[in-house]
Amino acid sequence: MELQEFEGAATIEKIAALCRRRAFVFPSSDIYGGLGSSFDFGHYGVLLNDNVKNEWRRSLIQEREDVVALDSAIILNPQVWVASGHVDTFSDPLVDCRTCKLRFRADKLEDAHCGRRPSKKPGEFSECDLTPPRAFNLMFETHVGALADDASRAYLRPETAQGIFVNFKNVISSMRVKPPFGIAQIGKSFRNEITPGNFLFRMREFEQMEMEFFVPPGDAAEWHTYWIEQRLDWHLRLGLRPSHVRVRAHAGEELSHYSTATSDIEYLYPIGWQELEGIANRGDYDLQQHIAASGTKLEWVGQDERYVPHVIEPAISVVRSVLAFLCDAYDEEVVADRPRTVLRLHPRLAPVKAAVLPLIGKDTAMVEKARALYEELRRSMSAEYDDAAAIGKRYRRQDEIGTPWALTIDEQTLADGTVTLRDRDTLEQERVPLEGTTRLLADRLTAS
Ligand code: ATP
Repeated sequence: MELQEFEGAATIEKIAALCRRRAFVFPSSDIYGGLGSSFDFGHYGVLLNDNVKNEWRRSLIQEREDVVALDSAIILNPQVWVASGHVDTFSDPLVDCRTCKLRFRADKLEDAHCGRRPSKKPGEFSECDLTPPRAFNLMFETHVGALADDASRAYLRPETAQGIFVNFKNVISSMRVKPPFGIAQIGKSFRNEITPGNFLFRMREFEQMEMEFFVPPGDAAEWHTYWIEQRLDWHLRLGLRPSHVRVRAHAGEELSHYSTATSDIEYLYPIGWQELEGIANRGDYDLQQHIAASGTKLEWVGQDERYVPHVIEPAISVVRSVLAFLCDAYDEEVVADRPRTVLRLHPRLAPVKAAVLPLIGKDTAMVEKARALYEELRRSMSAEYDDAAAIGKRYRRQDEIGTPWALTIDEQTLADGTVTLRDRDTLEQERVPLEGTTRLLADRLTAS
C-alpha cells in the first residue's frame, strides 16, 4: 500500500522555525510585518540553494554533451506572452467568499479552510457564500519606460521556458547542437498566486530550473519517459526516500494548454502528496506559436530533413526541491539523554561540509592548529571554524545546519598529529592523521 503520511519528525512549522533560527530563510521585509509568502535567504539558505542548483547543472550540463546553458531576461517583449498563450490563459479559477471575504482557488478547495469554520472546507459551512469561479491571470504586470500606459505594459516572466523558445534560433546557429538536444536555464519566475503558503512551497517569486529538450517529433513519447526516469533518479540520488516520492500522470482535463502529456514527480511533504517537479511533453506548441506570431522560422534543418522539433520539459523550482530535501533530512533524536535536531542532508547539498573545532577555544596551540586546518580545508570546500561555547553545543549547531563532518583538535592532536573526525549521522568518531584530512574529505565528498 502506498504511504499516505509523511514518515519522519518534520512538520512545515518545525522546518520554518529551524530555517529562521539557523539563517536559512527569513520572512521577507520582517521589520515591516513581512509580505505574504515572500522570503529572504540567509547565509546557509544561499549555500543550500546554490548546491541544489549546482547539482541540477552538473547532471544536466556538465555530465552530458547534449544540453547547453542559457540565462534569458526576466522582462521579455510582451508579444512573447501573447504568443505563448499566457496573456489569454495563464490563469487560475478564483472564487471569493462574500461572507468571510477570503479568496480561494476553485480547483484547490479541498486543501483550503473556511474563514469562519477552519475545520470545514470553503462552501461546506452554512454561512459560506461563494461566487462562481472566474479566471484570474497570474502574471505580474509592470511598465517599461517612463509612461505607464497600455503601450508600455510588460510582464515579469511566469516561467523561464519562453526565454528558451525565443532563443531557439540563436542557439542552433551558434552552438554545435542537433536534436535531440536541450537548453537549460535557472532563473527567477513570478506568479501572483491566489493562495500562496506552506512556507516555501508556493511563493509569488521563486527560482525555476527548467530544461527544454528538443527532439524529432516521432521520438517525443520515448524521450518523455526517459526524462521522467532521469529526473526521478536525480531526486533519489540526492537523498529523497523512495517511499516519499512517486510519479503521477496528469489526467486529460488536468493538462495545461500547451501540453500533450505531463507527469508530475510528487513528494510526500508533511502537508501531503504535492507536485515537486512537472515533466511535460509540450509537443511543438510553443515553437509553432512563436513561428506564427514572429514570422521567424524556428525549425531544425538537417541534410535531408526539416522539421519543427517537439519539446520535453522537466520544470522544478529551487524552493520546492529545497523544501523536500529539508523535510526528508530533518530528524530529532535523543543521544545520551539529550535531544538533538539534525539535518541529514546529502553531503553534496550540505551548506557546510566540515567544521573545524579546537576542543578548548582558549588553548593557543589548539587554536593555531585548528585555524591552519580550516584555512587549508576552505580552499577546496565550504568549511567553518568555531571556537565559541562548549564542544557539545558546537556539535549541535553543526548538526542543525547539516554539516556532515566535524574535525576536533584536542590534546592528542598536539601529541601525535591526529584529529577526531565525527560523523553527523552515525556519531562515530575516528582518529585520522591531520595531514591529509582535506584529501580524505574531498574523496568522501566525491564518492557520496
Ligand atoms: P501548481 O499546480 O502547484 O500551481 P504548476 O503545475 O502551475 O504548479 P508548473 O507551471 O508546472 O507548476 O511549474 C513548474 C514547477 O515550478 C513546479 O513543478 C514547481 O516545482 C514550481 N512552482 C510552480 N509554482 C510555484 C510557486 N508558486 N512556488 C514555488 N514553486 C513553484
